[in-house]
Amino acid sequence: MSNIRIGHGYDIHRLAEGKKLIIGGVIVPYNKGEVAHSDGDVLYHAIIDSLLGAIAEGDIGKHFPPSDEAYKNIDSALLLEKTFKIIQNKGYLIGNIDATVILEKPKLSSHIDSMRKNISAILHTDINNVSIKAKTKENCDSTGEGNAIEAFSSVLLLRS
Ligand code: ZN
Repeated sequence: MSNIRIGHGYDIHRLAEGKKLIIGGVIVPYNKGEVAHSDGDVLYHAIIDSLLGAIAEGDIGKHFPPSDEAYKNIDSALLLEKTFKIIQNKGYLIGNIDATVILEKPKLSSHIDSMRKNISAILHTDINNVSIKAKTKENCDSTGEGNAIEAFSSVLLLRS
């Protein structure tokens, strides 16, 4: 495989009352949270898919199938750690990550740096290699109506 590899990932979860809203390892105070088999961390999931995509290793469902009881309510940080090991074993490290979270409410700006810190620690890279942006959907579609959260991630891997 070449010395640089690009990856793209996407994830979406429905939001429901009484669930925790976990984004990039940060519990964001809100009356709704992700509906999921795991903890539903939409940002970690999108990043995992981008990492696996960069080395053409399928997706999160292939490596951590929702049918496997071992992954029920699992902390997605553990899945991101396992994914990093896969990348490492293939001989790569993080160049940089650029991710976008789409959520109508609440505002995420005060939590962004905590998310960047969590991600850079798990992926053994400098915090300046991890960019996270937050957008709304301007009240369009079901995400814009507050019924879902989405995340996109682009990653560049470098041969270590
Ligand atoms: Zn997910």
